Amino acid sequence: MISGNLESDRLKMVETQIKARGIENRLVLEALKKVPRHVFVPPDYSDSAYADRPLPIGLGQTISQPYMVAIMTETMNLEGHEKVLEVGTGSGYQAAILAEIVDHVVSLERVPELADAAAERLRELGYANVEIHLGDGSEGYAARAPYDAIVVTAGAPEIPGVLVDQLADGGRLIIPVGNSFQQTLTRVTVRDGERKTEKLEGCVFVPLIGKFGWGECETPD
Ligand code: SAM
Repeated sequence: MISGNLESDRLKMVETQIKARGIENRLVLEALKKVPRHVFVPPDYSDSAYADRPLPIGLGQTISQPYMVAIMTETMNLEGHEKVLEVGTGSGYQAAILAEIVDHVVSLERVPELADAAAERLRELGYANVEIHLGDGSEGYAARAPYDAIVVTAGAPEIPGVLVDQLADGGRLIIPVGNSFQQTLTRVTVRDGERKTEKLEGCVFVPLIGKFGWGECETPD
């Protein structure tokens, strides 16, 4: 993709990759149109920032494909007043999309260099409603619970019960669940103490590494 006009690349991305695949939520579409994704990728990849794929962000990690960010965000059914927990800050792009939509975002990252870079980037872009914490997000972040929604942007072997426990009544957990190579995007909704689990679509994420994710040695390089 030629990046001579990054804004028109971004609008084209929303039309051809996001709306064309059925994403309709106005808040999600507006956020994707607004957040400058090219600022979240390494300079070597800025020409590909609006391409239809995940991109490397260093340290073996990735910024997710735009469509995957869109569907995960749409699936949370956000209205704007929510407090959302993200597990896997990475570049900070998904956190910025959420920050455009909801009142407050708590985001957890286990790799210090990524957490620091994302915090700096989000500060420079003026996102005052995002807090980033370093730590094992497979355990959630009980200090700020309960959350209206939790999104995990790394693949887990199973649904960590501790994350479900940190949802508010009516809360939604969106998480890729499967093996290290392929997962199913899964939504757990909790209402009146009842849990409903829905399998949404296939996806591929880097592994969630931690107490309620994969062990370091279980995952491929
Ligand atoms: N949401 C990110 C973005 O918008 O750029 C993309 C996230 S990337 C696909 C997955 C991230 O999850 C990586 O940065 C990885 O270090 C992080 N991660 C993996 N296991 C984690 C854990 N237990 N706690 C917090 N972060 C974790």
